[in-house]
Amino acid sequence: MNKENMFAKLYQLICKDTGGQNESPILIKVVRMLTLTMIVYSLANGILFLAASHTGGLVFSLLCMLIFVTTFILSYYRGTFVSYCILNICILLWVIANVRMFGWGIGVQTFMFVLIAFCFFAKYKHTAAKIIYILVLLVLRMYLYFYCQNNNPSISITSEMNDIFQLVNSAAIFWSLSLPAYFFSTDTQALEGKLMEYNEQLKKQASIDPLTGLNNRRSTMEYLERLLQNAEEQISICLCDIDFFKRVNDTYGHDIGDIVLQEIAETFRKELPQGSFISRWGGEEFLLIFPHSNGDEAHYALDILRNKIKSIVFDGNGETFSVSMTFGLVEYDFHSDLTTVLKEADEKLYLGKESGRDRIVF
Ligand code: GH3
Ligand code: MG
Ligand code: MG
Repeated sequence: MNKENMFAKLYQLICKDTGGQNESPILIKVVRMLTLTMIVYSLANGILFLAASHTGGLVFSLLCMLIFVTTFILSYYRGTFVSYCILNICILLWVIANVRMFGWGIGVQTFMFVLIAFCFFAKYKHTAAKIIYILVLLVLRMYLYFYCQNNNPSISITSEMNDIFQLVNSAAIFWSLSLPAYFFSTDTQALEGKLMEYNEQLKKQASIDPLTGLNNRRSTMEYLERLLQNAEEQISICLCDIDFFKRVNDTYGHDIGDIVLQEIAETFRKELPQGSFISRWGGEEFLLIFPHSNGDEAHYALDILRNKIKSIVFDGNGETFSVSMTFGLVEYDFHSDLTTVLKEADEKLYLGKESGRDRIVF
């Protein structure tokens, strides 16, 4: 097995699910990584004590290693929360034993900060329990400090050993503090990213008509309000409606009716000048806005569109048919309000229907 493969396998093993419902996969990953850190750390300590021919230290290190190996194995048989608690208890007992045996000078008590960070990163909602736990850690740290002030370490080590432990401990603490910080912050950032994407999708869904992909009535009203408020150029607005569309549905079915709506929406997109705002106003009615065109220019574009739509040949279950549309066009006069403009367009559309359909009333 090559090195990369070995690391990939080890990582898979570390990430293995506990099988519990609603269990955080990040938490169990960090629990196992911290446990492995403690195993490697105890092994390194053991080697140091062996090199210094220090039997007491060696036995203690091997015992710690055994406890952390057991914790690691247990994490595959217990839920994430239990594994998290076991690791906390083991580290705490380990800190107490270390400080009492080797004294305050080797700096093991700083490991309690790792437990504080770990406790808040773990996404369990027991805030009161977390605060109590932090207070317990604080009291314990004070107790250990005063214990060391009044008692000599039970195992004496040379000052060189003391310095080496300080260095090893500092490295282990920095590493152990970075682990939960890295994994949990990456997780939060990924979540935030997903949330933003989801929000964007929601916003889009709220402003788009799902059948035609055109702007819906809501987003069109917002657009029009903004447009008329800041109007500097000529604006033309057209309300249009498919002629005898009910007949299409009645003759060929609702599904074919939907295809007609989609095809007409596509023709709007293709045929209308760039910058036109196209929307499905409701049913088979569409509102077309030309933000930079006067009435004559819009009329010209609409006439091309009207002929294009009439020339589309639809397939209605083997029979071909086509449709026409009627258009009510208004030029914005820079004075009227939105309701008046829309009402005027609607009246012109009605006039077009009354006078025979398939025409533009301007
Ligand atoms: P007119 O020329 O006077 O506009 O006649 P019309 O038949 O088009 O008008 P009417 O208002 O009587 O009928 C509109 C039809 O549009 C009725 C409705 O079922 C149909 N319709 C509205 N929305 C949809 C839709 O999303 N899909 C389909 N297939 N039909 C729709
Ligand atoms: Mg109609
Ligand atoms: Mg209608």
